[in-house]
Amino acid sequence: MDFSKHPCFSAEARHTTGRIHLPVAPKCNIQCNFCNRKFDCVNESRPGVASTILSPDQALGYLKEVDDRVENLAVVGIAGPGDPFANAEETIATMKKVGEAFPEKILCLATNGLGLLEYVDEIASLNVSHVTVTLNAVYPEIGAKIYSWIRFGSRVLRGVEGAKLLLERQTAAITALKARGVTVKINTVIIPGINDGHAEEVARYAAALGADVQNCIPLMHVEETAFADRPVPDAGEMQALRFAAGKHLRQMSHCARCRADAVGKLGEANTEEIQALLKKAARIGPTDEWPFIAVASREGLFVNCHVGEALQLWIFKNENGKPVLIERRPTPVPGGGDERWEALAKTIPDCFALLASGCGNAPLTILAKRGIAVTAAECLVRDAAEPLFRGEPIPKVLERAAGSCGSGALCSGTGTGCA
Ligand code: SF4
Repeated sequence: MDFSKHPCFSAEARHTTGRIHLPVAPKCNIQCNFCNRKFDCVNESRPGVASTILSPDQALGYLKEVDDRVENLAVVGIAGPGDPFANAEETIATMKKVGEAFPEKILCLATNGLGLLEYVDEIASLNVSHVTVTLNAVYPEIGAKIYSWIRFGSRVLRGVEGAKLLLERQTAAITALKARGVTVKINTVIIPGINDGHAEEVARYAAALGADVQNCIPLMHVEETAFADRPVPDAGEMQALRFAAGKHLRQMSHCARCRADAVGKLGEANTEEIQALLKKAARIGPTDEWPFIAVASREGLFVNCHVGEALQLWIFKNENGKPVLIERRPTPVPGGGDERWEALAKTIPDCFALLASGCGNAPLTILAKRGIAVTAAECLVRDAAEPLFRGEPIPKVLERAAGSCGSGALCSGTGTGCA
């Protein structure tokens, strides 16, 4: 295996080569007790955070622009902000497009491993050479304390039952990846009092499966998580447990705990230019085919409805830079899961943007796939529609975070989610 150019797998390469994470995977299939994907801030640097979501086509366009500006971008990865295989269609489509356009880049995925197994053949055939699997426990009793639930197909499993299934799926996926020659890194989040005495066992287990390297990551404090008040391990504790785990599996100790839209060398914050490129990539201006904007509104004057609660969408055309109402279209009735959002996309096939005061991850992803960018805002329709018709972002002060609603419950208009 060649670790030499991947900045995460080689401590030397981190000084010379960079990576780009493409944020195409908003949904997640597990709730880890240390993770909160609701926080979305350009100044926050941790996994699970991205300032926008891109469709596979947008991600490729963005990558082309970034690659022209950032030197030695050796690795293209997908690391969320949810899980790549809770968004498998987008993940595979993105890897395929990137591999065709940039055959020289190292392709990399970081996943919790729950949904990975079914895609191992495809991953290998797309030349994805590096996969990171987060393996926090190899005893289900310990895993049960780390995961509040896992969703597998239509089932939601909790406690030991969920942790056991997760471990089985991770074990099978790692074994399958190694059988196909893929380099596998194990991420282990070290949570004092839960699994800090367990890292060596994880290393031993993963080494037996053929994993190549382990990255023990100290717990980070993240607001509004079950582990928000836990102590974090200090440097001495991390060194000791890496030493013990290192007897079984090579250790990585320079992880920068990157955002899901990180670009450049490890530890460097995204520049303003990169943030602007990311925003630009996520934005689609009006075209001949998609000239209109749809607005989730109660009365057609303000953007004041969540996507999940909108009974109708108000459709505006551009007349000399001003939004002019042309019609109202009813939205599909609640229920039906993703089919509701597919049906919603079909009601606005001529719109390039949807303005709403909130939007869950499921509609955000499905609409993005259909080329409809959801912009979350609370303001007069006019104030958001005018810049969008000009192909510009809406003023920051009007923005809300799309995709931050969460998921699951019927949307009540209070940011609790779309269904
Ligand atoms: S989070 Fe850690 S392993 Fe992932 S890209 Fe950043 S440095 Fe590499």
